[in-house]
Amino acid sequence: VDDLLQVIFSAEGPLARAFSDFEERTQQKEMAVQVFDAYTKEEIALIEAGTGIGKSLAYLVPAMLWAVKHKEKTVISTHTIALQEQLTEKDIPVLLKALGIELKAVLLKGMSNYLCLRKLSDFQEQLRLFTEEESKELQSVENWSTKTEEGSRSEIAFPLSQETWEKVRVEKEACNSVKCPHYKRCFFFKARRKAADAQLLVVNHHLLFADLVSKQRPDFKEEKAILPPYRRLVLDEAHHVEEVALDSLAVRIDRQNLYRLLSKISTETVREALPPTGCGALVQRLEIDLPAEKRLALDKVQEAFSQLEDFLSTQAPEQKWRVRSELSEIKPSFLLVCKALRSLAQGLHSLASELAPFEKAASQAVDVQAASSRLEEQAEGLEKFFTEDNDPERVRWIEPSKSNIALIDAHLNIAQHLEEHLFEPLSTVSLCSATLTANRNFEYMKGRLGIAKRTATENCYDSPFDYEQRTLLLVPTDMPDPTDFSFNAESAKQIIQAIQASRGNAFVLFTSYDMLRKVHALVSEQVSYPCLRQGDKPRQALIESFKAQDGSVLFGTDSFWEGVDVAGEALRCVIIVKLPFKVPNDPLVEAQGERLLAQGKNPFFDFSVPQAVMKFKQGFGRLMRKKTDRGCIVCLDKRLISKSYGKLFLNSLPPCRTLFDRSDAIFQEMRNFYIRTL
Ligand code: SF4
Repeated sequence: VDDLLQVIFSAEGPLARAFSDFEERTQQKEMAVQVFDAYTKEEIALIEAGTGIGKSLAYLVPAMLWAVKHKEKTVISTHTIALQEQLTEKDIPVLLKALGIELKAVLLKGMSNYLCLRKLSDFQEQLRLFTEEESKELQSVENWSTKTEEGSRSEIAFPLSQETWEKVRVEKEACNSVKCPHYKRCFFFKARRKAADAQLLVVNHHLLFADLVSKQRPDFKEEKAILPPYRRLVLDEAHHVEEVALDSLAVRIDRQNLYRLLSKISTETVREALPPTGCGALVQRLEIDLPAEKRLALDKVQEAFSQLEDFLSTQAPEQKWRVRSELSEIKPSFLLVCKALRSLAQGLHSLASELAPFEKAASQAVDVQAASSRLEEQAEGLEKFFTEDNDPERVRWIEPSKSNIALIDAHLNIAQHLEEHLFEPLSTVSLCSATLTANRNFEYMKGRLGIAKRTATENCYDSPFDYEQRTLLLVPTDMPDPTDFSFNAESAKQIIQAIQASRGNAFVLFTSYDMLRKVHALVSEQVSYPCLRQGDKPRQALIESFKAQDGSVLFGTDSFWEGVDVAGEALRCVIIVKLPFKVPNDPLVEAQGERLLAQGKNPFFDFSVPQAVMKFKQGFGRLMRKKTDRGCIVCLDKRLISKSYGKLFLNSLPPCRTLFDRSDAIFQEMRNFYIRTL
C-alpha cells in the first residue's frame, strides 16, 4: 500500500489530474502512510499538519483504501461545518472519481437538524391553536416536507423562525422510533440507515460525543444509538476535542431553557385529541390540575432565579462566578424548583399512561412522556448542582449574561473519560490538526486527551509555504507591559501605525472583548480605513464585509483566532495584541490549575503556556492561507521576547523572519517588506 500511496500522491498520479491546484508534497505522502499504518497496526496517530499540506486528502485516501479492502467504516469527525462541507461536497466526491472507487459517504447531522414528521402531522391537525404567522410557517414546512429528500433544516430556503422549527424538529425524548407511524418515512432514521450503510461517515465533534454520552446511560438501547457501530475514527480539528468533550459531559441548567420547557407543555393539544365526552377526570386534570402545577413550577423558577440575581449582586462582579460553598442562601429556593418540576413530571408521566387507551392521542402521549423525562432530567441536574461532595474532579459555576443565568456543573477529568470510552475501545484513531503541539511536542495534548496507554505514532508535517520569504514577525520592544494601565492607549497607537504600513487589510486579534471595544474606539476615530468590530454583525457577515471592502481592518476576539480563511491580499497583516493566555480566574481554568497543583505539576507551564501557544499558532496561521500569500504579523505583547516562556511560542511557529526593535524601526521595515514582496 505504501507504493500505492506514493503513486496516488505523486505529480503524475490521479489526484494531480483531479485537483487543479494539486502539488506533489512529501509531507502529504508521509502523512497518508502514517494514517494507513495506524489502520493496519491498530494504533493511534497524532498528526500536526501545517497549512497547505492537504491533510484532509492525506487521511481520506487511507480511509477509502481501507474501506474498499476491508469493508469497514471510518467515522470522520470535524469541529466546523465549513470543513464538513468541504469534505462531503468537494474532497470526497472528487477523490472517489479520481481513484475510481465506489463507496458510500454520508454526512450525518445532529438529530435537531431534521424534521419530525409525527410532530408536523400533529400540528397540521391543530393549526387553529397557533397564531396566523405560526400557521403560515407550519404550512410552508408541510409543503417543503413533501419535496425534500433529506428533511434537514439547512435546506429550508423560506423564512422560518427558530421557535417554529423547534416545534417540528426531531427530539430524542419525543421519538418512539420503530413504534412511530412515520418511522419508515422518517428523515432522521433514513439518514441513520444511510449512515449505517456508509463506509465514510462524516459527523461533528458534538454529535460524536453526544453518541458517546448516550451510550453510557443505564437505559441505553442500541436502536436509539445516535451513530452506528464503528471502530475506526479520524478526528480532524482535534485541538477542539477536549473542550467539546467537557461541554458534552457537563450539566447545564439555565433559566431560559427552564422557561422554554415549561411553556412548551401544552395541555390544549392533548385535550383536542380526546373524545369530546366520556373522559371527565382526564379533562379535569388537563384543564385544572396540570396547568396549576405548571404555573407553580414557573413561579418557583422565577423566584429562585431572582433570588440568585440578588445574591450575585452582593458578590464581586464576575463574568463567571465559581461555586465553592454550600450556597445556603439560595439552595432552599432551588430545591423548591426541583420539587415543583418533579411533581409536574410525575403528573405528566401518569397522564401519558392514562392516554394509552385513546388511540387518537397516542402521539400526544409520546410528547407528554418526553416533557416529563426532560423535567425530571432538569430536576436531577439542579439537585446535583446543589449537592456538596468535595469532589476535586468537579467544578461548578454560575454564568450570568444579559438575558439569562446558567448553572454549570462540569467534570475535570476528561482524559480518563476519553481514554475509557474513546481511545481504548476503538481500533484506530487518527487525530489531526494544524495545532496539536507546543514547542513541537505532543505531550500536552496526550495528557489532556488521555492518550497514554495506547501506542501512538506522532509526527509534525511542516507547511510547504515559504514563510521565510513571505512572512515577517515583528515585536515592538518599546511597548509597555500588558498589565500596565497605558497598554490599551499604546496598543491603539501601534495598531494605527501597523495598518497604515499595510494599508489596511488587517486582522487585529484580542483576548478580551472589553479591550477590543476600547481599542477599536480609539483606532477607528483616527484612521480612514473601515474598522469592522466583532459583535456589530454576525460573524460570517463580518468576514464577507471584510473581504468585500479593500483596506478593511477587522477587530475580533476568540472565534476570529481560527477557522477564518481569507486568502490573498485581502489579508496581509495580523496584529496580535496580547499573548492568548486564558483568563486565570475563569472557574474552569482555576479549577484545572488547582487539580494540576495537587498532582505536583505547574499549572502555568503545564497548562496555561501550552494552551496559549496553540492559540497563538492559530492566530499566526490566519495570515498564510495559500502559498502566494504574504504579510506581517505584529505582536504587541513583548513578553514574547522578554520572558523565558516566549521561546516556546517562537519555537512553535514556522521558520519566518523576525524583527524585535523599537516601533519606528518596526514600521519602517514593515513598509519595506510590502514593497519588496509586491
Ligand atoms: S420516528 Fe421519531 S423522529 Fe421520526 S417522525 Fe417519528 S417521532 Fe419523529
